[in-house]
Formats: sequence, structure tokens, C-alpha cells
Amino acid sequence: MPETFKKIAVVGGGPAGCAAAFFLARNGARPLLLEKNTSPQSKVCGEVLSSTALGVLEEMGVTPRALGAAPITRILFCAGCQKMEYSLRHPRLALSRTRLDEAIQNAARRAGAEVLPGLAVQGLVTESDGTVLQTSAGAIKAVRILWASGKRDHPFLPARQGGESGWLGLKLHLRLPEHQRQRLEGLLEMHLLASGYVGLCNVEAGLSNLCGLIRVSAFRGTGADSRAFLELLARQSPLLAQTLEQAETLTAKPLAVAAQPYGYLQKLTLPPKGLLRIGDQFAVFPPLCGEGMAAALLSGRLAGFSLAGKDDVSLKLALRRGLAPPLRVARWMHRGAAHPLVRTAILRLMARRPDILETLEKTMDPARGLLNIGVS
Ligand SMILES: Cc1cc2nc3c(=O)[nH]c(=O)nc-3n(C[C@H](O)[C@H](O)[C@H](O)COP(=O)(O)OP(=O)(O)OC[C@H]3O[C@@H](n4cnc5c(N)ncnc54)[C@H](O)[C@@H]3O)c2cc1C
Repeated sequence: MPETFKKIAVVGGGPAGCAAAFFLARNGARPLLLEKNTSPQSKVCGEVLSSTALGVLEEMGVTPRALGAAPITRILFCAGCQKMEYSLRHPRLALSRTRLDEAIQNAARRAGAEVLPGLAVQGLVTESDGTVLQTSAGAIKAVRILWASGKRDHPFLPARQGGESGWLGLKLHLRLPEHQRQRLEGLLEMHLLASGYVGLCNVEAGLSNLCGLIRVSAFRGTGADSRAFLELLARQSPLLAQTLEQAETLTAKPLAVAAQPYGYLQKLTLPPKGLLRIGDQFAVFPPLCGEGMAAALLSGRLAGFSLAGKDDVSLKLALRRGLAPPLRVARWMHRGAAHPLVRTAILRLMARRPDILETLEKTMDPARGLLNIGVS
């Protein structure tokens, strides 16, 4: 590809990048969306869309229900024999990331973004009038770059640092026996375990998703084998042991992602200039709160609405102001869930005072700080 000059390049075709490309295009820009994979791939993700995520998707013309998403109206928290069921204020939907990412990339394309799948950015060169993106198919010059590469850090950009490390994000699609799949209808089971926490829920096409954070040290003994992983979980929870007994695993190994700085929020001064990070590149929500995709979509939406009129520092400030409060609560929840005494106490308290969970659900919602920013 010859060197082309484009005003705005968005790197990464996940929720953050697609929302940014969609709202930029809808507001009159002609952004380029560069995605390294030729077609959407499975990702480490619980695949549960919160009501805020669903709201942004609706604005983008994406309807997960029509794509087969499974509804979730209740969460069952389990820690050993302790159980607590909570009815969500706003129902959620679970949809595989392959299906979701395909739909949001198509939405960006329909809105007028130029979507380039199979193009990986491999380096950046800053020049006086813009930045040259070195891609697998040649150089592309842009005056502004939205960086939405998700969980991947790159050697040519300062890495995200801080937050909680020592965890492995793991995900496995399963085919459960019919009675277990039926038992999970409308339900997200959240298992708080000695080695971490995992969520289990149905997604589309007769599949269920098991996904969560496990301590690296505990996972090591499984040899990264799917069955050994299920056995590790079954040993820590009688309910999981029952549910997973006849589960068919779809892949020999669970999908894994290491070294994520859970709880990270980007500082205003992180270089380089002219490049605005969004989604997981800006803030890493611990998965327990289930708001990572909402935060990614909202950050892309904010950039899409405000990029033309604001410099990067103002945008970073707006993102920090919007995301810091829910991220703080999500971090406490993550730490509490990881500590045996604290999680027992929290579950007991929640069983007596379900209104606390309702308050937490509200305060962890990134929409409270971000939905109205940039939209005037
Ligand atoms: C264990 C776990 C469970 C989770 N469960 C949930 C949940 O149930 N609900 C929820 O809302 N959130 C959940 N999350 C969080 C959620 O997955 C992320 O917050 C969300 O995917 C972030 O979106 P993003 O667009 O920033 O990044 P991504 O979705 O990771 O997309 C980044 C894209 O960039 C592309 N890319 C990377 N490098 C390059 C490059 N050099 N050039 C071009 N393209 C590139 C990638 O291929 C990818 O498509 C979970 C996270 C974990 C770890």
C-alpha cells in the first residue's frame, strides 16, 4: 500500500475502536479502522454486556438479541457452600465476542469508516505534521491516532503499569448437558474461589462461557489443559463440580491473557503526543464488575463525539473524571473477592442488605460519569 495521508486512524477493531470509528464517521469524519485480525477472533471475556454497553450498541444500530444473545436477569454469587442470588436492576445480555466484534465492525463500516481487517500496526514514527503508522501492509500517515489495541501492549509504546498483576484471565466455551444449560437460563453464576473467581453463563448457539481470573501459581499445575482447568475449579466449588462434570470443552486449552494491570487508569502525561488511548488501553476494569466493554464503548463514543473540538489532554481529563470513580469501586470489589475472610463477610452482608448490591451496581456503571460528556 502506498503511503496515504488520512486525518484520523483508529487502531483496534474491538468495542473501543469500533465505537470511536462509528461515532467519528457519524459526525462527518472518514476514519480508518485498522484491525490486525482478518476476521473477529475469540477473546478472553465473560461476554456479558451491561445495560450501559447495550445502550451504546443500540445507538450504533447493533442488536445483540437479534444475534442470539442470551438474557441475564440474575446473578448467583457462590463461595464454597455460601450462596446469594441477586436480581439485576437492568437485565444484561451474553453474546460471544466473535459475533459481537463482527457486528460492531460492520456498524462502523456502515456509518462510513474505512475498515481494514488484517492490518497490524507494527511501529510508529512521529513527524512534524503527523504520525506514520508502520503496518503489515505499508505506511499510513495520520494527524490523529486513537489507540484501541485492548489487552496488548506494544514495544514501541510505553506499557500500562500498576494495578493488580499476578492474575491470568482465562476463558473456555463449553457445551453443557441440556439440564445444566436450562438451569443457567437467565443466570450468571459468579464463583468466588480460593484461586480467584470465574463467571459461568449461557451465550448463543447452545454454548456456555466460563471465564474469570485465576492466580498464575494455581493455573500452572494444570499444564494449560482444558480438562485439568475444569478439575481445578471443581475441587474448589461443589456447584461447579456438579455443573462441569459432563461439560464438553470446545478447545484443548483455555484462552489465556496474562500480565494485565487490573485497576489501571492512564495518567495525563503518558506519551506520545497526538495519540489518544481508549478502551483497555486507557483503563482496565477488573472483570468482576462486568463493565469493561461498557467503559471501552463509552471511551470510543466520547472520542468520536469530541475529537474534532478538543485536544488530547482535555479528552484524557474527561475520560479520567468519568472512569476513575467506577474503577475505584471495581478495584475494591476485586480485592474483596480475592480475600477469603473479606468475601465471606461481604456475601453475608449482601444477603442481609441487598440494597448494597444495588448501590454497587449503580456506582460501578461508567455511564454515570461519561454518557453525557461530549454530547451537546
Ligand atoms: C477474564 C475477563 C473477563 C471479562 N469479562 C467481561 C464481561 O463479561 N463484560 C465486559 O463488559 N467486559 C469484560 N471484560 C473486559 C473486556 O473484555 C474489555 O474491557 C474489552 O474487550 C476492551 O475492549 P477494547 O476495544 O479496549 O479491546 P479489545 O476488545 O481487546 O480489542 C482490541 C483490538 O485491537 C486489535 N489489535 C491489537 N493490537 C493491534 C495492532 N498492533 N494493530 C491492529 N490491531 C490491533 C486486537 O486484535 C483487538 O481486536 C473481561 C476481561 C477479562 C480479562
